[in-house]
Order: sequence, then C-alpha cells, then structure tokens
Amino acid sequence: MLTIKTIAEMRKTRREMASSVGFIPTMGALHEGHLSLVRRARAENDNVVVSIFVNPSQFGPNEDLAKYPRTPDTDLASLQAEGADVVFMPDAGEMYPDDFDTWVEVGKVTERLESASRPGHFRGVATVVAVLFNIVRPDRAYFGRKDAQQLAVVQKMVRDLNMGVEIVPMPMVREKDGLAMSSRNAYLSPDERRAAKVLWQALSTCRAMYEDGIRDASTLRQAVERAIAREPFAKLDYVSIADAETLDELDSIENREALVSLAVYVGNTRLIDNVTLGENG
Ligand code: AMP
Repeated sequence: MLTIKTIAEMRKTRREMASSVGFIPTMGALHEGHLSLVRRARAENDNVVVSIFVNPSQFGPNEDLAKYPRTPDTDLASLQAEGADVVFMPDAGEMYPDDFDTWVEVGKVTERLESASRPGHFRGVATVVAVLFNIVRPDRAYFGRKDAQQLAVVQKMVRDLNMGVEIVPMPMVREKDGLAMSSRNAYLSPDERRAAKVLWQALSTCRAMYEDGIRDASTLRQAVERAIAREPFAKLDYVSIADAETLDELDSIENREALVSLAVYVGNTRLIDNVTLGENG
C-alpha cells in the first residue's frame, strides 16, 4: 500500500493505473462504516484509492475542525488490512494554496436540512470532492447514506458538471444499539453515548408509524420531536421529512420515497442520522 502526500505524486501514480479505479474520500478516524466502503470498492475495482483529508473549508468558524479526531496510524493499518492500494493524505496547504479561489456551488439541494445550521458546509464539500476527483480521476466513488444530503449533493454535482464518475451509494453501518457509526461518536462521554441511541429510537418510532399506515408528515415529525424531547441529554436541531431525491419538504408520504433525517445535539456533539421510507426504503 502506497501512502502519498503530494498531488504530483498522486497524479503520477494514477497515470500508471491502467484499469478501473475505485475511490473513497474520507476525513479519517476510520470505523466500520468507512471500511464497508473500502471493501465494496475492493470487490468492484482493480485499484482502490482512499483519501484522508480533514477538509477545512467544510467546517464553520465555530465547528470542530481543530479537535476533529485524527488517528492516522490505526487508519493506515485498517486500510492495509482491507487491501487498499493507495492512501492519499495531502495537507491543507497542498489542497488549498494561498491563492485558491474557485468554489463549487450546488443549488437547491444544498439549501435545506444541514445548511441552516452549517452555512457554507456543502460548498466546502462539493469543492473538495471536485478537486479530489480531478486528482484521482476515479471510475467509481463510494459514499455512505449516513450523510444522505452530502450524497445527494455529490450526485447532483456529478450529473450537472458531467464529471463521468459513477457514484455508488452505500448502506449505513450502525452500532449494536442502532447508533449510526461516526468519527464524532468519539466525543461522547459514557452518559452521552447511552443517550445517543435516542436518534435511532426516534427514527424507528417514525418507521413503525409509517408501517402502520400513517402518511401525514407533520404527525411523523412530531413523533420524532417527542421521542427526542424525552431524552434529557439530547436537544433536537432539526427533523425533516423530505423527497428522497430533491430534499423538498413533504406534507405527505404517498407513493414516493421519503428521507427522514435529523440532527441532534447530545451534550456539545452534533449527531446526524436518517432512514428512508417507502418504495425501496
Ligand atoms: P467522513 O470521514 O465522515 O467524511 O465519511 C467518509 C465517507 O464514509 C462518507 O461517504 C460517509 O457517508 C461514509 N460513512 C461515514 N459513516 C458511515 C456509516 N456509519 N455507514 C456508512 N457510511 C459511512
């Protein structure tokens, strides 16, 4: 497995790859969720490239960029064990030279859900993914449904800008008690970790109501709000029931796929989770 720090060397290595390239962009602090993407890429491509880059431009001024968990040694050992070929780990100066001044703005799909609390977040995400795609030039790139809005943003960008990369959506990986795996779970104290399962409980309640035939979105939203309110360590940021593709908020879930997503503060840690209802959900 090659570990590469510079864009020049990554480009050179890419030029030497004659057959298919699968790519997994990450911010490191890898867990089973990330590794499930690597495994799928390994099964579907001749070459597997993983990037580890904590992208400053997707963090707001009061967010956790400085304290975001960084575990490069264990990350590299995990990726080696999964059979990755290349790990691209540029530093911020390599990716954003002082005169960097081009940004990718995806439209409507970035204006909802996460954006109210994280203005500018998806501009940073879309830009860094575009830059990484230009460096790595993958045939396929793997993104988790954990970050459902990010997946929708990347799919829209790739379609609109004709990037010619196949985006492969990957199922969410959860802990035994249902908590969505996330690098940010490392911030939780033992009490907060116990409380954090309320996200999955709230979504499960919502899904059970849907399966009982309830289609009215505000009834379902309120059920999620009530479930979160019962947990003293948790504070709801938002709950959304939206069209799974456009992310337009829905009044009713009839004959369509809906994304139920939420963000919750557990102590100071902001966690997100989602389920898809209907059709294939
Ligand atoms: P991150 O390192 O948080 O930027 O995540 C890198 C990729 O891993 C993204 O495509 C995420 O959606 C995906 N990912 C993170 N957590 C999970 C999870 N629990 N299950 C599936 N995919 C995940």
